[in-house]
Amino acid sequence: MKAVYTERHRSHDPQFFLGRGVVKRTTEQPERADRLLTGLAAGKHTLVEPTAFGQGPLLRVHSPDYLRFLAEAWDAWTALGDAGTEMIANIHPQRHAATYPTHIVGKLGWHTIDTACPIGPGTWDAACAATDVAASAAQLVMDGESAAYALCRPPGHHAYRDQASGFCFLNNSAVAAAHLRLKHERVVILDIDVHHGNGTQGIFYESPDVLTISIHADPSQFYPFVWGYAHERGAGPGLGANLNIPLPLGTRDDGYMQALGVAEKAISAFAPGALAVALGLDASEHDPLASLAVTTEGFRRIGAAIARIGLPTVFVQEGGYLSDLLGTNLTSVLAGFEQAR
Ligand SMILES: [Zn+2]
Repeated sequence: MKAVYTERHRSHDPQFFLGRGVVKRTTEQPERADRLLTGLAAGKHTLVEPTAFGQGPLLRVHSPDYLRFLAEAWDAWTALGDAGTEMIANIHPQRHAATYPTHIVGKLGWHTIDTACPIGPGTWDAACAATDVAASAAQLVMDGESAAYALCRPPGHHAYRDQASGFCFLNNSAVAAAHLRLKHERVVILDIDVHHGNGTQGIFYESPDVLTISIHADPSQFYPFVWGYAHERGAGPGLGANLNIPLPLGTRDDGYMQALGVAEKAISAFAPGALAVALGLDASEHDPLASLAVTTEGFRRIGAAIARIGLPTVFVQEGGYLSDLLGTNLTSVLAGFEQAR
């Protein structure tokens, strides 16, 4: 299948990660894309450059003040004169009775949920490029391809309408889904990353025309801890259009496929015109963040099950971190899909 990719992701090279009080290098590194490219080459997929869509796709899912903040953040940060080499907030305010701040340090706190989204000099450009990659893959499918893959980096599914978190700044899967909505009345986002797709859920929580489904490790034991529970079903006109399927830590292929079966039934009942798959590969048993235990063969089965849903499908890369099997698992999920089509 066609795989959309650009080298522009390399300008985002974050370093800082804080976990359990320990500072270490983040796992969201540019080398991830090299491993994924190896996986695409092994599957003989065709690389294509993204189209530049400008701000249109972004404004469908993000607020103007958030986009302005991200665009201007690095210059304002360096103008402080005594700031560090990456933007990391020291406040994360709750917003009741709060006033939108004018100072860059205040805005940084306002627009970030956690410390896992450090902003550097090239973050904005890379994040924008990733949304072009996602929208371009969606456009390929709208133009008649039965499926396309978007190699997005940085990932997107933890990004809300106006907040970054968990390595994510702009929500690529949401951008792809909103792009598909230009043609289809109803679309589905199926998030198979090991982490709950909290940002995506937040963006579409009151939308009746985008069904969001996330299969992930039990948030009572795992990031993001405060979202991802089964009782979160959507709100207002979107009530019933959000489905969370948390899985016990250590769940293996058969348990995962059962959850996917539940998702398939919900998708079928929703009768959508197209599908965006938030394709995290970090449910792998060999992922450094592993909490589930999906095998390479399991990823092939997942790809085949997604193919049998029978919808025009956009795969949007989300998580999946450095392991010897990162590229292999991408090859496997896409091969499973193509063999079952
Ligand atoms: Zn993840």
